[in-house]
Amino acid sequence: IDTKLPKVGTTIFSVMSQLALEHKAVNLGQGFPDFEPPQGLRDALARAMNEGRNQYAPMHGTAPLREQIAAKTERMYGHRPDVDAEITVTSGATEALFAAIAAVVRAGEEVIVFDPSYDSYEPAIELQGAKAVHIPLIAPAFSVDWQRVRDALTPRTRMILINSPHNPSGAVLSAADLEELAAIVRDTKIVVLSDEVYEHIVYDGRQHESVLRHPELAARSIVVSSFGKTYHCTGWKLGYAVAPKSLTAEFRKVHQYLTFCSFHPAQVAFAEFLASDPQHYLELPAFYQAKRDRFRALLAPSRFKLLDVPGGYFQLVDYSAIRDEDDLAFSRWLVEQGGVAAIPLTPFCETAPGTRLLRLCFAKSDATMEAAAERLCKL
Ligand code: PMP
Ligand code: GLN
Repeated sequence: IDTKLPKVGTTIFSVMSQLALEHKAVNLGQGFPDFEPPQGLRDALARAMNEGRNQYAPMHGTAPLREQIAAKTERMYGHRPDVDAEITVTSGATEALFAAIAAVVRAGEEVIVFDPSYDSYEPAIELQGAKAVHIPLIAPAFSVDWQRVRDALTPRTRMILINSPHNPSGAVLSAADLEELAAIVRDTKIVVLSDEVYEHIVYDGRQHESVLRHPELAARSIVVSSFGKTYHCTGWKLGYAVAPKSLTAEFRKVHQYLTFCSFHPAQVAFAEFLASDPQHYLELPAFYQAKRDRFRALLAPSRFKLLDVPGGYFQLVDYSAIRDEDDLAFSRWLVEQGGVAAIPLTPFCETAPGTRLLRLCFAKSDATMEAAAERLCKL
């Protein structure tokens, strides 16, 4: 048939998880924790289901959950979104990203994305008849060259899509980066879409620079987050978008016909859990930093070179001392012969990155990390 997405195959996350199963490999590919969400949250979900909260939720999310999101956002970033007009609960960040792009970007317009970029961005842009303009991040720190962004602007530029902490590199944008971005979009029609799903996972005392800390950017941004990342429940697919009233109104026009509303029992559970335990996300940096440090220590004797991890729950490793082949070939060899599933960077890039890097997920129990490290240290 005349396909709308000729370049798109099956997402690398499904491909790698399937290969991991087939080859009985330790799965450090697809990014999900192999430990459970907090007990109190699971209990709250079961209660919500047993107490009859099983029909449609309000279209934009339950009021108590939006209230908790507003309170959390104010506490973290000093910006309190309006509970009724500026917060929309979605079916994961994936839906929020798609709805934001569909609501804002027209056919023929351009969206600036930074490579490597999360794999759902470009298809969402292409389905609007728009074009993703790819700007490579500068390795090894995966920083943004803002001059390249300025050079890429055209009258058709409608959106700039940023992601911090960054998947797959873990890079975090600084306050100075946000100033650069603000200067670039000032007096333009450009909307910023800020993917902040790893907002609570930053290390070594860093602060996450949400665009919501920056009033000028907050006024023109759609900010996306995910409960799946913060509460170890990626399978519940609950996220949200925060945006000013006018942008939220457009966003909701898409959301209401894309999904209408999201999983109701989980909204009830999160509203209750966030009210009773507002600490969980404040403890995440220490929780994941311990995992990061443990994983790095386990891999220290290996022939992989470890890149710095300022945020997120992925470790990039350079495998060039082990085999001289591209990342697609190496990741296939690794899952088949080495017994570990990882994610190559090529699917996150417009052109093959030319680096010898793989992404390993360390949102794992000690036992999983140890089993993987034992295999990785033999290579
Ligand atoms: N953006 C990034 C950068 C991600 O890593 C992910 C995957 N967790 C998502 C969006 C999608 O999040 P969700 O699972 O909530 O749809
Ligand atoms: N966000 C997860 C990752 O980066 C995967 C999500 C998915 O499988 N769609 O690994």
